[in-house]
Amino acid sequence: MYQFIAIFIIVALIHFYESISPLEKFKRIKNLKTDFILIIFSSCLVLIINNLLLSDIVLSTLNNFISFREKINFIPLWIKFALSLVVGDFGYYVFHRLMHKPYLWRAHQLHHSTKKIYWFSGLRTSLINSLIVRLPYLISFQMFNIPFEEFYIYGIILVTVNFWVHSNINTRFDKILSFAIITPRFHRIHHVNEKNLSGKNFGNIFSIWDFIFKTAEYNEKHDNLNKGEDLQWKKVPRQIIGI
Ligand SMILES: [Zn+2]
Ligand SMILES: [Zn+2]
Repeated sequence: MYQFIAIFIIVALIHFYESISPLEKFKRIKNLKTDFILIIFSSCLVLIINNLLLSDIVLSTLNNFISFREKINFIPLWIKFALSLVVGDFGYYVFHRLMHKPYLWRAHQLHHSTKKIYWFSGLRTSLINSLIVRLPYLISFQMFNIPFEEFYIYGIILVTVNFWVHSNINTRFDKILSFAIITPRFHRIHHVNEKNLSGKNFGNIFSIWDFIFKTAEYNEKHDNLNKGEDLQWKKVPRQIIGI
């Protein structure tokens, strides 16, 4: 219950700041209908994926194979938690780059169909996309032997990150923050339709991976460039699955 209240408060704050300080001026309500239809379907699939990934059999199998177990018992839980986020985030960076290769692009295409980026639009993802991006965090969580009860904190962090990076918020601190974490402007560039920019800014939480692997791009002039593509509704069922 607490996680829903926390997420509701976060959404309300982001929605409010989008209204008073947008990066791009557009009416969210115009996009809401399309996003709502797509996101209802994709969220149902995400629930199935979550139940599958968090099932006892998946968790115990992963834990048996990859956990450091008692070797890292001396490390305080909060440090293990932070390390698991960093390692999982590196995995996300790698998997996200792979989804931009032709052989996995269909899994990711629906996410890049968004023409107007705002907090809710970030939830447009396919079933396979949802599975792929959750795996690295889940694996690193098991590596560091994080208790199952901590998963809800992890969930709140990842949902908040999704809302934050897709939010249409223009903050004075965006550039400074982007040296450490993914910011709205930083991720917005990833959605731009220019060939030289779509291969940039793959990170989810931390921007260090983009800086290390030279895929970081930051320029305020990119804010209003075209993003996304026109949806062809007959292809949408396949895109929601990601095949
Ligand atoms: Zn992408
Ligand atoms: Zn995105």
